[in-house]
Amino acid sequence: METHFSKEQLKDKDNSSSEKILRKCVHCGFCNATCPTYNLLGDELDGPRGRIYLIKDMLENNKPANDKIVKHIDRCLSCYSCMTTCPSNVNYMHLIDHGRNHIEKTYTRPLSDRFIRNFLSQVMPHPLRFRIIGILTLLVKPINFIFPKKLREMIKLMPINFPKKTLPKMKVYPAEKRKKPVARVALLAGCVQQVISPQINEATIRLLNRHGVEVIVPKEIDCCGSLNHHLGKSDLAKKTFKKNILIWYDEYLNNGLDAIISNTSGCGTTLKDYGFVFRSDDDLKKKAKKISELTKDISEYLDDNIKLNFIKNKESNKGYRIAYHSACSMQHGQKIHDVPINLIKKTGNKVFDVPEGHICCGSAGTYNLLQTDIAKKLLKNKISNINKINPQFITTGNIGCITQIANGTKIPILHTVEVIDWYTGGPKPKILKHL
Ligand code: SF4
Ligand code: SF4
Repeated sequence: METHFSKEQLKDKDNSSSEKILRKCVHCGFCNATCPTYNLLGDELDGPRGRIYLIKDMLENNKPANDKIVKHIDRCLSCYSCMTTCPSNVNYMHLIDHGRNHIEKTYTRPLSDRFIRNFLSQVMPHPLRFRIIGILTLLVKPINFIFPKKLREMIKLMPINFPKKTLPKMKVYPAEKRKKPVARVALLAGCVQQVISPQINEATIRLLNRHGVEVIVPKEIDCCGSLNHHLGKSDLAKKTFKKNILIWYDEYLNNGLDAIISNTSGCGTTLKDYGFVFRSDDDLKKKAKKISELTKDISEYLDDNIKLNFIKNKESNKGYRIAYHSACSMQHGQKIHDVPINLIKKTGNKVFDVPEGHICCGSAGTYNLLQTDIAKKLLKNKISNINKINPQFITTGNIGCITQIANGTKIPILHTVEVIDWYTGGPKPKILKHL
């Protein structure tokens, strides 16, 4: 694609990166075929190619965003399905991030939008604030109908209980039964996940400890920063990125870290991008690059480093039918697809890919809270595809998808790591107690 940035504009590192991305695009439109919003809405501007043109126009002409641009960019899920399809390797992820930052700087949203986006930005990345709001939400659920539509949908999506943690909060979870651990890793505890599904981190820690891995969870690190990053709030996001990088890098230098484990693929995608975000920052670029290199999704880490000790238990002969939902951030963001499926197959159960599995379930961070109508349509399609498999339960590697899909079906859904933990000596997940 031809571009017309001036020399002055290209002195800006973000313009310069975006220009390189734009030049790779040959406007073939293959990406539209696998874009969930293009398929649902049928508008060129709701597909990747159309959005690329909108972003190009804003950046090249140094134009403030307007209502039309914001509408179509906001409808993008950042699912990155288009990146998997694109034959020219266009990095749509970096381009849309730049576009969103530009919108945040140049466009004044209506008051109600600003309120909701600021609310999400100030509450969701903070586990304590999120827990308090969650409990308040339970109180107002019965009178939900008095609230405006958007708030009503948000209240509906909030889970109705917050399971108690069963592991004590510690910085170091030592490896079991060994004098010297086989590895030392840091676990990203996450923000929303540790409040609504603490069992995911607990299964991860138990599983790693049982296989000789020492796990550290620095108490200062909760959120990876992606929530604000995708809201276009780059200053807030960078503050979180920087804090995380400095704490983990210090741990890496002083005590050694073999990996940083993410068990939420949305967060893992962002951690793996820290190096790019700070590519021009002389103080942070080396550290950020190292943190990105150390980051592994839990499935990736287990597959590459751990000889899993699957044990025979009374469940071993049951041969459950399991649907594997491949989160977009896992398959498109991190290009990990077969690894979790092969790990679950080792439990002896039957694992099935969800038909049309490359299409998003509509969760996409805060998307299901901000674009409820599109998110609901995508969820409906996802559930209909899951039903074609007739599974006894569903697994996936991302808390956002777990929450979204649980909202559309009674079929139990759990994290892949809970299944692996269970078949290597951990407890049976409570959600499956009836099976
Ligand atoms: S598939 Fe790639 S090259 Fe073709 S229009 Fe889409 S982004 Fe551009
Ligand atoms: S990220 Fe997803 S929703 Fe956005 S343009 Fe690409 S395929 Fe479409």
